[in-house]
Amino acid sequence: MIEIKDKHNCCGCAACIQRCPKQCISLEEDNEGFLYPNVNKLLCVDCHLCEKVCPILNKKENKKPIIALAAINTDEGIRLKSSSGGIFTLLAEKIIANEGMVFGAAFDKNWEVHHEEGITIEDLCKFRGSKYVQSKIENSYKKTEYLLKEGKKVLFSGTPCQIAGLKCFLQKEYLNLTTVDFICHGVPSPGIWRWYIKNQIFGTTNTSSKLKDINFRDKTYGWRDFQLTFQFKSSTPISSTNNANGYMIAFLNNICLRPSCYQCPAKSGRSHSDITIADFWGVNNFNIDLDDNKGTSLVLINTNKGLELVKNINMNSKEININKALESNKSWHESAKVHELRNLFYKQYKKHESDFTSFTQDLIHTKSITKRVIRKIFRTLGYNQLPI
Ligand SMILES: Cc1cc2nc3c(=O)[nH]c(=O)nc-3n(C[C@H](O)[C@H](O)[C@H](O)COP(=O)(O)OP(=O)(O)OC[C@H]3O[C@@H](n4cnc5c(N)ncnc54)[C@H](O)[C@@H]3O)c2cc1C
Ligand code: SF4
Ligand code: SF4
Ligand code: SF4
Repeated sequence: MIEIKDKHNCCGCAACIQRCPKQCISLEEDNEGFLYPNVNKLLCVDCHLCEKVCPILNKKENKKPIIALAAINTDEGIRLKSSSGGIFTLLAEKIIANEGMVFGAAFDKNWEVHHEEGITIEDLCKFRGSKYVQSKIENSYKKTEYLLKEGKKVLFSGTPCQIAGLKCFLQKEYLNLTTVDFICHGVPSPGIWRWYIKNQIFGTTNTSSKLKDINFRDKTYGWRDFQLTFQFKSSTPISSTNNANGYMIAFLNNICLRPSCYQCPAKSGRSHSDITIADFWGVNNFNIDLDDNKGTSLVLINTNKGLELVKNINMNSKEININKALESNKSWHESAKVHELRNLFYKQYKKHESDFTSFTQDLIHTKSITKRVIRKIFRTLGYNQLPI
């Protein structure tokens, strides 16, 4: 039976829950807002199926890509709405054109992030763009298994650990399944995201129903200088750059990631996905004409099935050296390093409703308590330029 003694050893993929024949595992939110499985021992029959499908107990071996590409979607409108070069949409469109189904992460009506299915081109809008919060996988592995057994083509997209979880859950290879993941920095908790939008965003506008869209990768000032933007139905958008937004500061500086992200079980190709997509941040170091600051994707093709899906899609691409490509994006193999003040952050963030951004800025600029107090005094006195 699954028992989480060390939180680093659970990525929250929910494979165990979906496989349990007695349905005696539930997901419970911990005090940081992450979900972990909890077994009702009275109902458990000790069949060990939950352990058999856990991607952390059954880690796969490292796997290098077979081809690396720099690529952009030739439809500029879609590329601008996507996080990187808009390649995910092209892959999904091809599956839909073949009457297949696509699974990906989408916002629900409360702006929380869940895995959902899509069957039309219009459905793809909800998946487009990175959502920097852990997506709840729900029963999407079960649905995928059912569809695969019915002979339907499925494209399943998610974090590398979600793909590793799906593969373990299925326990066999299906020719009609293609998987796409991304090079993954890590995920903040659904709990902190809920707190953030409720207190920092809805607090100022009163109601979530006025919100029209959330774009973590607004490219108004370019792909490199992306902003987090909240679009409202009738009021002006709220937009902020990464260093002026408490949520993004905590995410990008590894303050609020899931414990498993600091010892990621699915890096170095261990998800065994067919395709891995990413931001090609190092594209300017390659002598290729694919960097216009509107978003360029790094596309790592890991299997022949992945190669088949990428064939004849509407992208501009150039093949690049695999080793150089992997060197340019260290998160492919390196887990994020835990921020020294992570525990302090989780203990205190709720007390910083009114100064959340300065609280996170203080955490990254100075680890010493005395210096943080001095920064606070200067800020209270109205100084914008802080001495430390
Ligand atoms: C949490 C997170 C961390 C990332 N970290 C890095 C990184 O360190 N380095 C890097 O190069 N790239 C990273 N990426 C990937 C990058 O931001 C782009 O998503 C990727 O390059 C695909 O871009 P695109 O333009 O092809 O398509 P897009 O349309 O932007 O891609 C959308 C795809 O991402 C999936 N997705 C979105 N949010 C989530 C989520 N919360 N959980 C699971 N799946 C999700 C959707 O289902 C869809 O498949 C990260 C993405 C996420 C969501
Ligand atoms: S051992 Fe079997 S019955 Fe018990 S929790 Fe795991 S899957 Fe469920
Ligand atoms: S990693 Fe997934 S399968 Fe393993 S215990 Fe956690 S939720 Fe269950
Ligand atoms: S860093 Fe690893 S463990 Fe964390 S969400 Fe990404 S793939 Fe999963």
